[in-house]
Amino acid sequence: MSAGEQWWEAGACRGHDLRVFFEKPVVAKKVCAGCQVRERCLTYALDTKEWYGVWGGTSGRERKRLLRRRSAPASERCRREPKPAPAVVELVDVTGVRRRLQAAAVLGHSVAVVSRMCGVNASTLDKIRSGIQPRATPVTVEAIVVAYPELLLTPVSREGWRTQRVAAGRGWVGPAAWLGLDIDDPRVIPKGARHWAA
Ligand code: SF4
Repeated sequence: MSAGEQWWEAGACRGHDLRVFFEKPVVAKKVCAGCQVRERCLTYALDTKEWYGVWGGTSGRERKRLLRRRSAPASERCRREPKPAPAVVELVDVTGVRRRLQAAAVLGHSVAVVSRMCGVNASTLDKIRSGIQPRATPVTVEAIVVAYPELLLTPVSREGWRTQRVAAGRGWVGPAAWLGLDIDDPRVIPKGARHWAA
């Protein structure tokens, strides 16, 4: 971004058909994934309570969740690195995060890969993904939720088939099963799930 330029002028969406950002969220998130001002954009959308359309790689629903969980100062809300938890912190349900981790596994992304992307300890991710850990700090949840859209666009490593095999054996569902559904709502059952238990 050059001096004097507003952040949105450096957005990857410049020149794109902006209807995509309101009508085709999956396509829009792919554009945002390669955007150099993604965090600025997300911060702006959160600050202005912009709930309509894709901003900073997130849907309005995802931004509402981020805002609810956000406890850090505004300047830090888009940080990917989770900060040390305070002495007393209220833990939150990880249903949506567990589903995201399982969907990532269906694609072939191991907890090690997710850990590198969101900064959360791989062992914690493994416990959340397998259902052993039902609650986590808001910072952990936010780090995974923010990393998820990018994760979906990340190429799978050559070892990804191992993770895919684990996912298939446990009956986990991929990202497509959640399209149009609220992945964070424990009452929602994903599309095409035959042995749904998570
Ligand atoms: S993050 Fe997405 S919506 Fe925001 S400026 Fe970049 S491309 Fe545009």
